[in-house]
Amino acid sequence: MEKFFSIPINRRDLMKLAGLTTAGLFLSGSSNSPKVEAAEKVVKFDAKNIPTLMSADVCVCGGGSAGTAAAICAAQHGAKVVLIEKSISLGGLQTLGCVYPCMSTIIEDSDTPYIKEINSRMENLGYKPDIEVKPILGLAPFKVYGGGAERYVPEVLVEIYDEMCEEVGADILYNTTIIGAVTENQKISSCIVQTIEGISKIDAKIFIDASGDAVLSRFAGIPVESGSKTTGRNQPMSFRFEMSGIDEMKVYEFFTKKLNEEHLMPPDFELAKWSKNEDFFKKGVINGELTQDDITYIQAFTIKGKPGTMSMNCPELPPLKFSATDSISYSKAVSFGRRMIRRLARFFQKNIPGFEKSHISREAAILGVRESWRVVGKYFMTEEDYWEARKFPDAVCRTAYPIDIHDTTLNLSKQLKKGEFYEIPFRALVTNEIENLAVVGRCASGNFSAQASFRIQPTCMSMGEAAGIAAAYSLKNNISLNNLEWDKIPENIRSYVSKG
Ligand SMILES: Cc1cc2nc3c(=O)[nH]c(=O)nc-3n(C[C@H](O)[C@H](O)[C@H](O)COP(=O)(O)OP(=O)(O)OC[C@H]3O[C@@H](n4cnc5c(N)ncnc54)[C@H](O)[C@@H]3O)c2cc1C
Repeated sequence: MEKFFSIPINRRDLMKLAGLTTAGLFLSGSSNSPKVEAAEKVVKFDAKNIPTLMSADVCVCGGGSAGTAAAICAAQHGAKVVLIEKSISLGGLQTLGCVYPCMSTIIEDSDTPYIKEINSRMENLGYKPDIEVKPILGLAPFKVYGGGAERYVPEVLVEIYDEMCEEVGADILYNTTIIGAVTENQKISSCIVQTIEGISKIDAKIFIDASGDAVLSRFAGIPVESGSKTTGRNQPMSFRFEMSGIDEMKVYEFFTKKLNEEHLMPPDFELAKWSKNEDFFKKGVINGELTQDDITYIQAFTIKGKPGTMSMNCPELPPLKFSATDSISYSKAVSFGRRMIRRLARFFQKNIPGFEKSHISREAAILGVRESWRVVGKYFMTEEDYWEARKFPDAVCRTAYPIDIHDTTLNLSKQLKKGEFYEIPFRALVTNEIENLAVVGRCASGNFSAQASFRIQPTCMSMGEAAGIAAAYSLKNNISLNNLEWDKIPENIRSYVSKG
């Protein structure tokens, strides 16, 4: 049978394609294109002459928090695994994107076995979390549940991930970019990759799309959504960075004593633009040191095990100017964001006591994309699942993390009542169209609002873990992955069992 790999493209790209012969240019959306988009056209390339680089039981596409979990857990459960990653570190946004800290799910018993294992490895290396947070704003001390709760130091995590992959025998293919999918009879048989050697393919029985941007799924023709139905925009991107050489206690004293700010909790603390200190940052705009865009969102965290260094959850790129689903816009955002970083750093050095001798010590290697494309899978999560705290017999994890939308024009950050949580069903990780595909992490099946809650790291990791286990189980038992009933897998194999 003839084999093709296909590249879905939109109308703008189709126009561009006329006269082009190479296959590397096509994955982009238009900022003005309809936001519920299935590919308008699919360009097919004959794949029969493409050499096979590797064959595996399970091929995981993208080595972020979700994909790494999927690869490690599939291998732990006996599958031969290859994990494809376009950079040379695992962790995705967690590491390459300088995203720190791992957020809490805000609910007990959310840590699945894989997360517990990562946490114990972190603790063995001396990174212990603060489970109990000191009182702030007159509140009683409260407990932080779920995920790494502030201890996933990027430089340490990359080492743990490499080590775990090696231990379970999951092969990592670094510096390898997925550029296509070969589909036949409702299955993906191979994915096409670009490596230093050229173009080749990876054959596998099961594929897990953990690319964050639903790359493989879009190649395979799975329907996707993107952005808010209200604004048509994706969540804003950020360009994160770290500064070192900071005297943290001086920073703390300045904000608490001079600006009367109660949110800081030394020695590990968060500094942010709150209503009480807003004028301080606004003065920077009035003086011409900063722009209004620079101060839309300002937040910084001390990092466990990196004294004198803070992780900046800013600058936030103006969503009206830049889109995470437009390749040209994405690139312009990099240069624009880099200038924002320099202005913010100079402002901090000049105006915040404790930053006088600081410097930019790390710039993220990828932009902080909160949301780009999400697949429409067998189950499509919505805000109703969140508000009604829905539970599912085939649940793979639980969370109570708020619907956290950064676009100030939408301002939808909302929270469940204390102790309430919702669950994510296995059906949200598989699709109707392709039998042997799971989609995990921030591109899993859910609408804009639902994704704004399930996108945090611990939830992405638990989704990946479940997909890895399910992939290995479905192969052993000869069941199509998208027909597998998670609740029929014996409890001792499942990473999470719903209590209903
Ligand atoms: C600015 C920002 C701040 C955030 N703050 C927090 C926070 O404080 N705490 C928290 O818990 N969460 C936070 N999040 C959310 C969280 O970090 C991410 O949603 C989560 O890490 C996503 O994990 P993922 O594995 O789904 O995707 P990613 O981390 O995006 O991983 C995808 C991986 O796939 C690879 N890839 C992509 N395309 C290809 C391709 N074609 N070929 C090969 N490889 C490919 C990428 O290189 C990457 O390694 C934040 C997100 C952002 C953007």
